[in-house]
Amino acid sequence: MFDNLSEKLGGILDRLTGRGSLSEADVDAAMREIRRALLEADVALEVVRSFTDKVREQAVGATVVKSVKPGQMVVKIVNDELIAMLGSDSQAIDLNAVAPVPIMMVGLQGSGKTTTTAKLARRMTSRDKRKVLMASLDVYRPAAMEQLAVLGRDLSIDTLPIVAGQKPPDIARRAMEAGRLGGYDVVLLDTAGRTTLDEDMMTEAAEIKAAANPHEVLLVADSLTGQDAVNLARAFDERVGLTGIVLTRIDGDGRGGAALSMRAVTGKPIKLMGTGEKTDALEDFHPSRIAGRILG
Ligand code: GDP
Repeated sequence: MFDNLSEKLGGILDRLTGRGSLSEADVDAAMREIRRALLEADVALEVVRSFTDKVREQAVGATVVKSVKPGQMVVKIVNDELIAMLGSDSQAIDLNAVAPVPIMMVGLQGSGKTTTTAKLARRMTSRDKRKVLMASLDVYRPAAMEQLAVLGRDLSIDTLPIVAGQKPPDIARRAMEAGRLGGYDVVLLDTAGRTTLDEDMMTEAAEIKAAANPHEVLLVADSLTGQDAVNLARAFDERVGLTGIVLTRIDGDGRGGAALSMRAVTGKPIKLMGTGEKTDALEDFHPSRIAGRILG
């Protein structure tokens, strides 16, 4: 693992073996390589800066012991810090509230919201033995509502009947009422995304939040998102207040820098990751796996 970075740092630092401790100049040279690796992995610039500052602090003056190569030592500091920043603990979805527990999914169009809603419903139904109701609040794309209904039928999970002409906050209220009357444990609210961050989407998300008072607000974000990940996560967190992040398309060939960016700017845990198109392709978040990818 980390062959690339290890090799480069080894080239820069390993001549120092047995020389006492790492100097600022040695560490600066190493930081340039680390910075390059993070930018290549699509970590946002401001996050790269704060990250390298932290690593630098630990690396300068670190004692070079005979048995460990200095390059390897810095790679370990980088890896440990990445895992710490990504969140070393696994973060479960919190269902500790009065039933039906509302969970709201937000994110851009195409990020995987509807698929993730179905994945989560499937997991909660089969693994956690909860009774789940799914509701689509996407009044702009009838196909999106139908997509959730089809997924619900395939999985034998109930979806809120579609009523034309209702506004999203009203659908949210209707979903909660149906959840109460039907004795559901969880109500998953799949909101409408837009292709870019826009004011209407944020206003609507805030209105839905006020109507349903969700226990969890999960940002569904494509792991292939580049520098935009920071703006996306920050905007949703400021306007709606996130409780967690779901990273989709981990099965793709992206380097996963978006995970670090979003976690760093919001401080909110990455709770789950989507690993494929099928509804069983949902896993708990593994920081070490993403750290490995980021370091390449
Ligand atoms: P939405 O517009 O945010 O609701 O996005 P959708 O749920 O409709 O997903 C858009 C596309 O991404 C669909 O073709 C999904 O099958 C696909 N998709 C969603 N999550 C994943 C994932 O984790 N991995 C892969 N490979 N595809 C995914």
